[in-house]
Amino acid sequence: MSEVSLTGITKHYGEFLALPEMNLTIEKGQFVTLLGPSGCGKTTTLRIIAGLETPTRGELVLGGRTMFSDVSHENVPPEKRGLGFIFQSYALWPNMKVERNITLALRQAKMPAAEIEARLEAALEKVQLKGLEDRFPSELSGGQQQRVAVGRLIAARNEILLMDEPLSNLDAVLRTEMRAELKRLSRELGATTVYVTHDQVEALTMSDLIVVMNEGRIQQAGTPYEIYHHPANLFVAEFIGDPKVNLFDAELVVSTTGARIKGAGVDFHLTQPVQHSGGAVKVAVRPEHLCIHTDPKEGAIEAKIDVVQPTGSQTIVSLDMPSQRVTALVAQFRESWPQEQVWIDFDPADAMIFDAKSGVNIV
Ligand code: ATP
Repeated sequence: MSEVSLTGITKHYGEFLALPEMNLTIEKGQFVTLLGPSGCGKTTTLRIIAGLETPTRGELVLGGRTMFSDVSHENVPPEKRGLGFIFQSYALWPNMKVERNITLALRQAKMPAAEIEARLEAALEKVQLKGLEDRFPSELSGGQQQRVAVGRLIAARNEILLMDEPLSNLDAVLRTEMRAELKRLSRELGATTVYVTHDQVEALTMSDLIVVMNEGRIQQAGTPYEIYHHPANLFVAEFIGDPKVNLFDAELVVSTTGARIKGAGVDFHLTQPVQHSGGAVKVAVRPEHLCIHTDPKEGAIEAKIDVVQPTGSQTIVSLDMPSQRVTALVAQFRESWPQEQVWIDFDPADAMIFDAKSGVNIV
């Protein structure tokens, strides 16, 4: 049985339709990320699961219990849904010490004092805040405040955790550390986690399942591998990947002998079966799949190196082709290229093909 299930969840804000008919099921123990651009409905979805927002229609079931239904008129209040939260602001009580912040919910639930003490100790140990339990949040760094919020989740031992951009206030180094921390926490608690972010790196590194949203609609729900390598449509292909995927306009010609892609900068036979009768397509090639040659090569296209950006372990190279600008990501660290004139190609097996009109992936 699924742990989180949204069926036909619809949300209007006045006239504005923020979520049209959302259907999503999440299995017990999964780490699921809602990913998408600003305003796509991620936070609305999370707030509906939390009970902080009431859907216009639909049904929400958590751990086998109906939390909201427009048919049975059920609407369980947030505090009775048994969920753990971390928000962007961490939502710590500024007038309470670390110890109180971690144990408040347990006290409110009238848990025996010895049990509260044991859970507090275990949580402080886990998030390495021992010795700081008597400080107020204002006496802690951003990272330490974050760990108090994590400590509270550990102490509460909820089976479902909701996290809304919990790392966005942290600096880059701490963010990478906390990413691993939250993933470990979720696994150790055996919790089902719903995580909201607009940061694709967070989504790709942390999730079992990524739900890519746009304008209130799920574009694709898949593993990080599926989302990156087999995007369902052009929106997902362009949204995921940094630097962005290269797109070429082309024509798909389907004949009895097979399928061929022909356009400016692309000309190859498809080896994979194609679900299409032919016509205008977009060919998408990830920057790491573009190869740069310093000598002419059959089938490769002439290009001129424009900008070279070393990032440490890799180098981003912007190139001008006769028809358009493209980006390549090469493994070696280079501050400059030996020459301006180069030739580029790619393995057709790495190309993703989308119908130009509908944007749907067709191979
Ligand atoms: P962000 O990454 O910027 O937080 P999001 O994907 O979480 O964006 P939501 O906050 O879920 O997006 O908002 C979805 C849409 O609903 C947006 O267009 C937003 O303007 C609108 N919206 C959200 N809350 C309200 C509200 N209380 N009243 C009216 N419109 C709202």
